[in-house]
Amino acid sequence: MSETRIIAVANQKGGVGKTTTAINLGAALAEGGHRVAIIDLDPQGNASTGLGVPPEKRELTSYDLLAADRTLEETLQATAIENLWLVPSNSDLSSADFQLSSRSGRTHLLRRKLSESREFDYILIDCPPALGLLTVNAMVAADSVLVPLQAEFYALEGLSQLLMTVREVRQTANPDLRIDGVLLTMSDNRNNLSQQVEADARNTLAGLVYRTVIPRNVRLSEAPSHAMPVLQYDPLSKGSAAYRSLAEEFLSRQMAPA
Ligand code: ADP
Ligand code: MG
Repeated sequence: MSETRIIAVANQKGGVGKTTTAINLGAALAEGGHRVAIIDLDPQGNASTGLGVPPEKRELTSYDLLAADRTLEETLQATAIENLWLVPSNSDLSSADFQLSSRSGRTHLLRRKLSESREFDYILIDCPPALGLLTVNAMVAADSVLVPLQAEFYALEGLSQLLMTVREVRQTANPDLRIDGVLLTMSDNRNNLSQQVEADARNTLAGLVYRTVIPRNVRLSEAPSHAMPVLQYDPLSKGSAAYRSLAEEFLSRQMAPA
């Protein structure tokens, strides 16, 4: 079995498309025959809902994986989608930051649990909107960070904080952590500001920015309330096409040398 690649989908801002990207990139990779696990690491549990696992079916969660003595195997659930598994989350996780803050090895809890895994080609971690212990655990466990960036005025400012955290994790715990890469989301062709921010991002970050841009697409925002990825909800939508194209570009970057 091939090596598992672990990707943290992170940005400390909420509402920028982290969960949408984790779900739909995951679904697109699974559609291509890759074995994918999504770890919902946000106490809000949006990825769990969006993948059709309602609160009453989240018996064991990412909280149990991190804070209790549960294995990845025990906390994983199959989803309705072939090749796609999920570790769900719920509000139990909201106390994790505080509860784990005095544990020794607290930044390596997830890394230890994921290192047992040989079952998957890709593990995508859907991070909460903060740069706290949960996101740091994801970055310490990951091979790379994928950063969704909503094209709006303060987007690049927030990004420098995130890049600083990546640098710190590299210096202390995970020297091989890469940024791969920055994904422009909810883009609007008719909006000048959106276009300006995209141009700025490409100027400043160059090759870090994915060529694929995710457009604002109403089908993408409807899909979660139908408890499925947009690739199932509306396979021919612009949102589906965009995430399939992201999966292709993502896979070609995995092949390229670092
Ligand atoms: P985050 O996980 O970063 O908080 P979400 O992925 O939950 O962000 O997205 C925030 C909101 O925007 C959600 O309601 C989601 O359905 C919607 N959304 C995300 N991406 C798009 C898009 N490309 N087009 C339209 N709506 C989107
Ligand atoms: Mg989210």
